[in-house]
Amino acid sequence: EKYKMGLHKTREGALSTLKDILSKSNQIDEDLFDELEEIFIMADIGVDTVIDFIDKLKNEVKTKGITNPVDLQEMIMDEMFEIYLNGEIVNANLNLKKEGLSVVLFVGVNGVGKTTSIAKIAYQYKKMGKKVLLAAGDTFRAGAVAQLDVWANRVGVDIVVKPDGSDPSAVMYDAVKKAKAEGYDLLLCDTAGRLQNKVNLMNELAKMKRVIQKEIPDAPHETLLVIDATTGQNGMSQAKAFKEATDVSGVILTKLDGTSKGGIVLAIRHELGIPIKYIGLGEGVEDLEIFDIEQYLYGLFA
Ligand code: GDP
Repeated sequence: EKYKMGLHKTREGALSTLKDILSKSNQIDEDLFDELEEIFIMADIGVDTVIDFIDKLKNEVKTKGITNPVDLQEMIMDEMFEIYLNGEIVNANLNLKKEGLSVVLFVGVNGVGKTTSIAKIAYQYKKMGKKVLLAAGDTFRAGAVAQLDVWANRVGVDIVVKPDGSDPSAVMYDAVKKAKAEGYDLLLCDTAGRLQNKVNLMNELAKMKRVIQKEIPDAPHETLLVIDATTGQNGMSQAKAFKEATDVSGVILTKLDGTSKGGIVLAIRHELGIPIKYIGLGEGVEDLEIFDIEQYLYGLFA
């Protein structure tokens, strides 16, 4: 239900006009391709990706001898699907251990929905019967620790905190010790989103990882970057910067229920090679879904 609602809202974005444009066009010509190009760029797909994309469409129209604009719809969907997969099997499930403790790091700048996303994932795994621990590693932003603490209480999971300004690695040290000793299944670690100083960010994340890896050598099992879908190209540059700072294994794309134009899904995957793992569809703890590219693409034309 929620997912459908989210997709419905997503449809109000720029890509939602695709179906209308195709159905009211009389022929496939340069004007139509220009119009499509504009829509794709407006939808945050990214200029480079769009140029590639339009070239492929033109080629296919020629080789298949397609003349009816409505027939472009399936071709566009197939092409978007190919762009997203990029020849791989993209698994949106988290790559966690079947047994024993799994560790997930969350990175992203302030305000994107990182805290809320951690709470949502904690809630989902708790519901599956997993023992979940949070580590309040954003000791930099005033109030971030307290905010995560509120969520931990609301969701009913445990949390390790230290005062604002503490060394985040010290939080990780305590959290990983506790998680191991008390048989937790999942440790979700918040981090500070200080992109302004990439060297500091890199060092801080590296130090946190070292501390965690001393106890659990193959951790973190996922590093999830949280991006606000409504910020468009800004989100893309954040993604590039975080990718340079650390190994990002997946993206949580938040606020897809808002004014997002949807195309950022393709841009993130195509330009950065990172899969979308979850989408955020609201402010509530249940408003998070595992990302499904097929459903997503169908949603755009529904
Ligand atoms: P953080 O600074 O990255 O930790 O961001 P927060 O988790 O505090 O979220 C910032 C704001 O975005 C809050 O008002 C959240 O309720 C809101 N938010 C988070 N995720 C979503 C989402 O998927 N949809 C909508 N509409 N709002 C969201």
